[in-house]
Amino acid sequence: MTSLELFERYEAINKQISDALDRAGRNDSAELIVVTKNHPASLITDLASLGVQNVGENRHQEASQKHNEVLRNVSDGAIDTESQISNLNWHFIGQLQSNKAKAICEWANVIHSIDSQKALNHILLHPNKPKFFLQYSADRDQKRSGLGKEDLFALTELIPETEVKRFLGVMMVAPLNVNPEATFEQLKNVSDELQERYPEAKYISAGMSEDFEIALQYGATHLRIGTAITGKRSSSG
Ligand SMILES: *Cc1c(COP(=O)(O)O)cnc(C)c1O
Repeated sequence: MTSLELFERYEAINKQISDALDRAGRNDSAELIVVTKNHPASLITDLASLGVQNVGENRHQEASQKHNEVLRNVSDGAIDTESQISNLNWHFIGQLQSNKAKAICEWANVIHSIDSQKALNHILLHPNKPKFFLQYSADRDQKRSGLGKEDLFALTELIPETEVKRFLGVMMVAPLNVNPEATFEQLKNVSDELQERYPEAKYISAGMSEDFEIALQYGATHLRIGTAITGKRSSSG
């Protein structure tokens, strides 16, 4: 894809997001995280130069390499988007193995997919202090990540008062083959209940290329959009 095409696709998605916010009667905005997994580091540099402020990755090793590469290119002066790159927020959105949690904190500013006590503890203790979401599972499918409501609320009890400001809210990947409206509504209800106890954990990470307009109707604040902007990925994931 040329950078003009990339720009046009990015602009088109931004327009769809603002239209969907209008339709939902919302006057807040939503954070767009462009998912760059399975694409080269150069795509991240291109996106940053278009003004993208948030990129999302789902595998530690791939992301960590790309993070190093992007920063190296900046220090070499190979690219002229230094301020955009240094302002870029890196989001980890993939399945979180607790033994990788510490390493992920080395490059990720925001971790979306915490669903275990071990991973949460690593992240709470890390000096880089990344922000985080807890991942909710609407159907509690054992094969996928995420916690049911009770387990998710139990995990919040482990967040010490001093770290609560890093707790952004809940994240979900909508299960396939189910009514997306019903699942996004379920997530919204979990978020509302959570905010009774943690008023600042008011953010909802939900909505991908296929379902972000629906997610916006149900309060999504952080959209994770890949293919609709970047085109097809070189391998699945
Ligand atoms: C890949 C991925 C996305 C983006 O999916 P698209 O359909 O390409 O928009 C969003 N969230 C997670 C957790 C992902 O792994």
